[in-house]
Amino acid sequence: MKRILLLFAGLTASLTGLAQNTANRETKKPIVILITIDGFPARALNDPRLPMPTLRKLAANGAIAEAMQPINPTVTWPNHTALITGVNASQHDVMANGLITFPSDGAVPKIEPWVDKDKLVHARTLYEAAAEKGLTTGQVDWVAIYGAKGVQWQFGEKPDVQGVIPQELIAQGIVTSEQVEQFGEKSSAAWRDQIWTDAAVDILERHSPDLLLVHLLQTDSLQHQYGPLTPAAYLAYAYADRCVQRIVDAVAKIGALDRTTFILASDHGFATSTHTVHPNVALSNLGLLHKQDGHDVGEVWASPEGGSASIYIRDEKQRADLVPKLKSYFEEVSGVSHVYTNEEARAIGLPADTASDQAPQLYLTAAPDYAFGSGAEGQLTSSSAPRGQHGYLNSMPEMQALFVASGAAIKPGVHLGTISNLRVAPTIARILGVQLPDAKQPPLREILR
Ligand SMILES: [Zn+2]
Repeated sequence: MKRILLLFAGLTASLTGLAQNTANRETKKPIVILITIDGFPARALNDPRLPMPTLRKLAANGAIAEAMQPINPTVTWPNHTALITGVNASQHDVMANGLITFPSDGAVPKIEPWVDKDKLVHARTLYEAAAEKGLTTGQVDWVAIYGAKGVQWQFGEKPDVQGVIPQELIAQGIVTSEQVEQFGEKSSAAWRDQIWTDAAVDILERHSPDLLLVHLLQTDSLQHQYGPLTPAAYLAYAYADRCVQRIVDAVAKIGALDRTTFILASDHGFATSTHTVHPNVALSNLGLLHKQDGHDVGEVWASPEGGSASIYIRDEKQRADLVPKLKSYFEEVSGVSHVYTNEEARAIGLPADTASDQAPQLYLTAAPDYAFGSGAEGQLTSSSAPRGQHGYLNSMPEMQALFVASGAAIKPGVHLGTISNLRVAPTIARILGVQLPDAKQPPLREILR
């Protein structure tokens, strides 16, 4: 009897302890840190000697996908936006690394990065959903976020020297005012990643946001220049891993590892090309672009993004005539794998041109080893030294991206096959307890505790 009583007492005590632990966990708000390693190709994970110990450790203690499929176009800003909205370009309308604008004189279209988020992104983001629930967000080098409401702490791609975080870094002697003011000039991609990581550490240690968005960029620059899976790319991956480790260390330092979930993702993969097709040369040859005061002008322009090119026919009256003609023309160009009309492109997730001026009338995709260039003069196709490219169709194996989740909310030891990157935002929303009603894909419930 005594023994039974003792057992009962012990059970009660452990149940009380369990209840207290649960209560502690409930009062401790979850933190989510989303880190993107720009252009990291999922296929690099197949190398057991990939020099990324932090990524491997996070994956071993958490969940990893064999591959994560990006959205079309497989370009940085459209996919970063997909990661935090859960919707593709047909809804968020981001087709390039900025807003595509069309000069009234018919000159080459421009891509304007520094336009307000509300003008560029037509979808509800995680940080807006978080702000509505009284949660706070920090961002470091995140994209399509300029002038966004709902972000409390930031050190942007184009940092504001008067901002709280740049001022804190200046006060600590990490950067000078001059370096912040000329952030993108005279600096290496690796140095910028270092400072952005310093900013992420500062935001975590001093402000403890509920959601932190971090974009590491030098892997993109290095892979464009030298190609994916080259010695230079491996060094870039290793350095990105070091930046991730510093962020994990900062979370440990503030004692928040038990409530923090890390999501590591990339926006797209990378392929190598040695040939470039210049669709604007074709448009010049067809008489659709012509010289005026030394500049090319016209109503029809191709806007290239590596493995794809968007063709805009600005004069609506000409579309019915030109769309079938240009489609037949480009289908015969070697190196062009597919030509989609706008209606066809909607099936691969692009916006309708009746709803958005960012939507092209024709969308060209490149065959392997080819990419699109912007030139309007010279040869239609040129060859070049091997260069890293993305922008190809999102079904191309080389375009598949990284997904690793680890930490407080994640079950250890989960291996996923190929997932869509549209599932990341609903998963983060679930962890933070916020709502993204337009994101139709389910959260990754199988990885959540
Ligand atoms: Zn990118």
